[in-house]
This record gives sequence, structure tokens and C-alpha cells, in this order.
Amino acid sequence: MESSAGEITPLAPPAERRANLRAHMRAVNETGHTCAACTGVCCTFVANSMRITPVEALDMKTRLEAEGRWTPELFARLQETVERYRLDRETGDGRRTLRKTYTCPFYTPGPRGCSIHPDHKPYGCLAFNAKRPGVTEGGDCASSVKELENREAAFPNETAHNRVLKTKHQLPWDKAPIPTALLALVRRKQ
Ligand code: SF4
Ligand code: SF4
Repeated sequence: MESSAGEITPLAPPAERRANLRAHMRAVNETGHTCAACTGVCCTFVANSMRITPVEALDMKTRLEAEGRWTPELFARLQETVERYRLDRETGDGRRTLRKTYTCPFYTPGPRGCSIHPDHKPYGCLAFNAKRPGVTEGGDCASSVKELENREAAFPNETAHNRVLKTKHQLPWDKAPIPTALLALVRRKQ
């Protein structure tokens, strides 16, 4: 949201912007619909095509920096993922981009497969949960569109922050695969 003077109101902290998604996740888990038995295929090339906004990328970068993980080794792994899954060569009909799948560089096999703190994780990752107990290879999971929409509606100024980041870093996209989005923040330093 922009003030009458054209200034954008500050962005809420990452944890606040994810609170409803995390609460939803906890509620889903309490029903027994957990990911505990799953190999985590929603994070691999089998089913992962997650794309994130500039604000989400900056949230991830902030956390990785705080944890001492924003390193040349990470940048090499991000680049390797981009090349391996050809994420820099997107296809489409000019109006829509066909989403490519890739194994997320933050995934490690197993039930706790993601190494990104939930308060800084992509919104779409938090919203995607099992629909029944005992899922082992995905296939019966869904994204909570309602929770994602509620989150978006609660933080209307995020659109303006994305616009500012897009201009500042000359990003040709509104959303990009996780490694592409993070690499854009490496190349165009804060
Ligand atoms: S950020 Fe985490 S949850 Fe999201 S795709 Fe990567 S490993 Fe999976
Ligand atoms: S149960 Fe579904 S949401 Fe959970 S890790 Fe497996 S594929 Fe992902």
C-alpha cells in the first residue's frame, strides 16, 4: 500500500507474513495429514515447479545470510540447478510460461527434507500439504488456495514492494524458479 506521498508502507516481517500459512499447516498436521512418511517428491523434479516473487527471494536470502549459508558454494549449487533443469530457458506461447520442474537445491531426501526455516520459506511450499495420513510418494496432496489468498489480502503493500525490487534489480519476471530468483539477488547486489 502506498501513502498519499507515494511512499510504500514497510513490509511486515517474514514470520508475520507466513503466520496464517504456518497455522494452517499445524492444523492439517493435527488431523494426522502429515508429510512424515513421505520422501518429499513435491521438492524434487518429479513434482516441484515452485516459483517465487522478489520479496520471497529476499526473505530467503536474509535467512541464508543470517545462517552463514549465502556463500559461493551455495551460488554454485543454484547455478548447477539452473543449468541441469534448463531453468534459464523457459518455454511458452508468449502469453503463458510453461513451468519447468526441478529438484530444489534446498531439498535433502527424507521427511524433513527442506533446509529453509518455515518463517522464510516460499508461501507456496507452506501451503502445500498432504490430504490424508500416510502419504509416502505424494500424489494425494493439495495447495490451500484459500490460505494463500487470505495471506495476500492481508498484506496488500507486498505488491508495491515486489514492484520496487523488480525495478531495482532489473528483473524480467514477476515470479521465477527458486534458484533463478536467488541468483538474481547475487548478481545484483543489495
Ligand atoms: S524451499 Fe523447501 S519446501 Fe520449498 S521446494 Fe525447496 S526444499 Fe521444498
Ligand atoms: S506428503 Fe505431499 S506435501 Fe508432504 S512431502 Fe509428500 S508430496 Fe510433499
